Amino acid sequence: MPTYLFRCPRCGAFERAYPMADVPARAPCPACPGVGLRRPTSPALIAPGSAVVRLIDATERTAHEPDVVGAPPRPTTTAAAGPHRRPAITRNPLHHKLPRP
Ligand SMILES: [Zn+2]
Repeated sequence: MPTYLFRCPRCGAFERAYPMADVPARAPCPACPGVGLRRPTSPALIAPGSAVVRLIDATERTAHEPDVVGAPPRPTTTAAAGPHRRPAITRNPLHHKLPRP
């Protein structure tokens, strides 16, 4: 069941789920006895279960239940690393631009 955005003049925006065939133009506000008017929103064009949806779900989950890390990740050593080269902690090339302690 899709969710629709409504806006109460006193409390602001809130979402409600309705069947697509029975979407009202007004919905009761959950925070006050007022009524919220339906706001037009863009449709969700991402497929359920896709990588984007999994990433969004994982991001929202870690916002409420962050993973606890007891130690920094172990550095990975490679045979090509010279004696003056720091061991690679990450393989993401964008991380090479970050300042090092
Ligand atoms: Zn309200």
